[in-house]
Amino acid sequence: MVESLLKAHPEARVDVIERLPAPYGLLRYGVAPDHLKMKSLATGFHKTLSNPRVRFFGNVELGRDIDVEDLRAAYDAVVYAVGAPSHRALGVPGEDLAGSLPAGDFVSWYGGHPESLTAPIDLAAARSAAVIGVGNVAIDTARLLLKDPALLEVTDMSRETLAILAGSSVRDVFMLGRRGPHDAKFTTKELRELGELPGVDVVVEPRDLAGLESLELDGLTQRNLEVLRDFAGRSRTGAARALHIRFYARPDAIIGSDRVEGLHIERMAYDAAGKLVGTGTFEDLTVQLVFRAVGYRSVALPGVPFDERNGLVPNAGGRVLHAPEGAVRTGEYVAGWVKRGPQGVIGTNKQDAAETVAALIADVAAAGEPPARPELGALLTERGVPFVDWEGWSRIDARERALGAAEGRERVKISALDDLLDASR
Ligand code: NAP
Repeated sequence: MVESLLKAHPEARVDVIERLPAPYGLLRYGVAPDHLKMKSLATGFHKTLSNPRVRFFGNVELGRDIDVEDLRAAYDAVVYAVGAPSHRALGVPGEDLAGSLPAGDFVSWYGGHPESLTAPIDLAAARSAAVIGVGNVAIDTARLLLKDPALLEVTDMSRETLAILAGSSVRDVFMLGRRGPHDAKFTTKELRELGELPGVDVVVEPRDLAGLESLELDGLTQRNLEVLRDFAGRSRTGAARALHIRFYARPDAIIGSDRVEGLHIERMAYDAAGKLVGTGTFEDLTVQLVFRAVGYRSVALPGVPFDERNGLVPNAGGRVLHAPEGAVRTGEYVAGWVKRGPQGVIGTNKQDAAETVAALIADVAAAGEPPARPELGALLTERGVPFVDWEGWSRIDARERALGAAEGRERVKISALDDLLDASR
């Protein structure tokens, strides 16, 4: 969004306001730590935010330190690009048992998010786990559960996180799609990577791949099926860990009295009209953990319209709409997952941002000469908000790099909020 704004208008100046002391949002806290190439996108983000036309205000929360009226007074345009920090509900009995958790909580923990400092589950006490969903978050979850801990040593994860992953007793992971393999949401590169994990057998049941020959499938689906067929043709090597990828497996209930003891699943099939229906055949999987990787969800921002049903800020091409009347709320915009829903990779946001930027630039041009505006830094200082500016983040960055250098890694992430704030000073 920032990059697009800077390019769209030679005089655009952008203040980036972030709840946490560190920038980069999903790239820092959501992209899996072992996806080093993806993580290197931070170099480009750094360049954009280092532009003299950009300022960073970290550790500033909307609703706590500032409100929408402050923002509307201080800027010609306000863009909400807050993503989707919560999760969709699975909606089956037992969902809230101990040992059942949104995969996003696991991602936040291994990603070192300041609000997820303690491991949300006991990996040392579990032998097998189910991951519900066949999207890329399910894949990240399954991979991090099964990957040889020695291979994670190159990441930016803290020593504590690495130790907990290394102490995991999880040996079998069941990744479950309720529909057929041709309806899975994951991408081929991520799927293929699962088959390349040393010490992990990948098991796909040939019956799950049957009957797809006559379907007209797009390129991505065909490539996914090719990889799945390769997995299905493999023999077990007796590796210590195994990933069982299952399709047509609908979670019906999570079983357990006070914590997860199993997962009740129903075998599904497509009827003649192509509708997914239950076959009435049920099975119990013995698992001690259930990771619900069934999608993220945005949450309402104080003072900003929100469509609870769809989990979005209502908008027309990026312009925020009043709910429920539907009139445009001039000067307020949305971008990213809170605009279009929790779908798509980081690159998808570029296209999405271009639409919002075009609307914003057109509106600002039409509004004519702006009035004199208060300055956010002065307002925050007056209120005693200990915000972290770009120099502050640069100090955190340098500290993390130094921690990494001491261990022959590029970076070791600082997680706790107080430690981040200390490092920023
Ligand atoms: P997603 O791609 O939408 O996948 C969600 C999965 O949950 C689908 O398989 C969906 O099945 C399943 N699901 C939803 N409700 C369910 C229910 N009630 N019971 C059983 N299964 C259910 O979401 P995501 O994995 O959270 O990923 C979000 C976005 O981030 C995606 O665009 C993803 O590609 C991206 N991402 C990318 C990477 C990467 O590039 N490495 C990593 C992580 C995330 P149905 O299709 O049947 O609904």
